[in-house]
Amino acid sequence: MIDYPARIGLASLPTPFKKLEKYVVPNFDGNIWIKHDELTGTEVSGNKVRKLEFSIAHALEENCNTLITCGGIQSNHCRATAVLGAKLGLKVHLILRGQKPEFLQGNLLLDHLAGAQITYLSTNDWGSHTAVAESLREKYAVEGGKAHFIPTGASDEIGIWGYIAAWEELSRNFEENDVDPEYVVIATGSGGTQAGLLVGAQIYRSITKVVAFNVCDDASYFRDKIRADVSLWKQRYNVEFDETDLNILTLEGYMGPAYGEAEDIVFKTIANLAKVEGVFLDPVYTGKAFHGMVSELSLGDRGRLQGAKDIVFIHTGGLFGVFPQHKNFQFV
Ligand SMILES: *Cc1c(COP(=O)(O)O)cnc(C)c1O
Repeated sequence: MIDYPARIGLASLPTPFKKLEKYVVPNFDGNIWIKHDELTGTEVSGNKVRKLEFSIAHALEENCNTLITCGGIQSNHCRATAVLGAKLGLKVHLILRGQKPEFLQGNLLLDHLAGAQITYLSTNDWGSHTAVAESLREKYAVEGGKAHFIPTGASDEIGIWGYIAAWEELSRNFEENDVDPEYVVIATGSGGTQAGLLVGAQIYRSITKVVAFNVCDDASYFRDKIRADVSLWKQRYNVEFDETDLNILTLEGYMGPAYGEAEDIVFKTIANLAKVEGVFLDPVYTGKAFHGMVSELSLGDRGRLQGAKDIVFIHTGGLFGVFPQHKNFQFV
């Protein structure tokens, strides 16, 4: 039905799709299904590898030998890129937001072990990160190489193919399990997962609503970002598509104090799900979104997920981000 561009198989797919059997949400008697995208691989775990299947295929088509990308110090996307670079024999140069910490841990430790070059850029200077990327690209060109720049989270018109394809996989999961979910829930950060799912749902004429909990920025930011990326996608791949029709639902209110910082209730939710189901969320993305989802569900018809009987939570990974925040679990 759709023509996919070049793609390389990097993720372990399809990922499992399973119902939570024991976890109880007050006032909710429907089913919570988990799409286990934290199982796309051990070291490449999470949602980013689905997008990188397309972003890196594009870089290889362009004969690049180096990948440049950017993100927070504990970026899952940067870690996945660093690992995939090592697997494929590509150099990786990361631009990370913040100071070099005293100890390398979590994703940053893995970046280092996978041999990525790292440039740290302070939060104040972050506005210039694309300019820094451009000057690195020039530096690699002078040295006789060729670098491809992948934007934050691989959320651009190339990367969104990852979750358009994931929608196809999800619709098979729904069919096999004989469910017609009212909602698919995700955490949104750079918007590419949300954009891909929304496009996938529209292409396949699904009535399932894609609902995102933002972990940074706000609903209007994601509306504009997704419309812009989908419009570029349409132009680049010459598809007929009406992006003004997209039903972009971003539920605010669960970001907590800041990106990467969570309230106690999020750490409690993570510990509780781990204990009851053996499923591990993270405090930056999935913990906030899962907490948002169960909070809204327990409000019943007064909540923003009213009418849910079957609801799907896409577990987008993030486990390595738990370890740098171990101190926040000490009260649990
Ligand atoms: C990046 C990330 C997200 C958000 O995905 P975007 O496509 O950037 O919006 C969600 N969960 C985890 C664990 C992530 O690493």
